[in-house]
Amino acid sequence: MALYKKTETLTQIPWIYFAAIDNFERNIQDSNEPEKVVSINIPDEIWFGIGNSGSNTDTQIINIFEGKGKDGNGDGKAEIDNPEDILYTMANLLLEYGPTEDDIKIGLWNYYKRDLTVQTIMNTSKVFRRFGDINLTDRDFPVNIRYNYSYRNTWGDRRGFGGLRMHEGTDIFADYGTPVHSTTYGVVEVMGWNLYGGWRIGIRDIYNIYHYYAHMSGFQEDLQVGQVLKPGDVIGSVGSSGYGPPGTSGKFPPHLHYGMYKDNGYSEFSFDPFPYLNKWERMAKEKK
Ligand SMILES: [Zn+2]
Repeated sequence: MALYKKTETLTQIPWIYFAAIDNFERNIQDSNEPEKVVSINIPDEIWFGIGNSGSNTDTQIINIFEGKGKDGNGDGKAEIDNPEDILYTMANLLLEYGPTEDDIKIGLWNYYKRDLTVQTIMNTSKVFRRFGDINLTDRDFPVNIRYNYSYRNTWGDRRGFGGLRMHEGTDIFADYGTPVHSTTYGVVEVMGWNLYGGWRIGIRDIYNIYHYYAHMSGFQEDLQVGQVLKPGDVIGSVGSSGYGPPGTSGKFPPHLHYGMYKDNGYSEFSFDPFPYLNKWERMAKEKK
């Protein structure tokens, strides 16, 4: 956090963007690797320039080879593994396009060339701005635990009410109208009707994970795409919508279908939410 703020002072680019880029890159990296202070990985050919084969860290030599590596800590060298140099270099890469939010979005697109990556970083920066913090570890269970509900591990079941060949999620059975909560800090990415999911909401969190809530009876009033959420925020209520044109309901017992999808920077894949639901349920009960 101190490093992000220091780079903001040096470059006028708000710290939330460095924090969000760093966060995105940390979450696409192999979790077995030792954690670094700053996880942003700038490719050698961008840092040192093409033809700078000895990877010379002298900033004048890097300039000659049209490398982008910069010296952020004032030691005269642009080191690709120095946290301050990395952040200062990233700031300068972005500043080529300008300092406003729109400029930064363009800068990020030119650097990553992937819409979902840019979207995720921009969303994460919004969350960091809202809460003024990067250590956002709170979670909640997706239905209000003061209501009756039941769930078991249905991951991979052939039958299920999700409309997918394999059941990609957990079904939490509860009565119509049971409040549905955001489980995490994140931003509403999609909301509306889809054929199998019915009234569904997708929330992208700050760990590159997409949380999918389906079959709801309706959405919380005023909720909209782009809105920042925290754990426990009510997003709608349990229903049995889906399997037909908009409004179709009652083709199966009311329940919330909850799915999780991880983005690794190239593609998205579903994984079993059940162990997380168990954990968040315990956390919610402890708070009660
Ligand atoms: Zn389901």
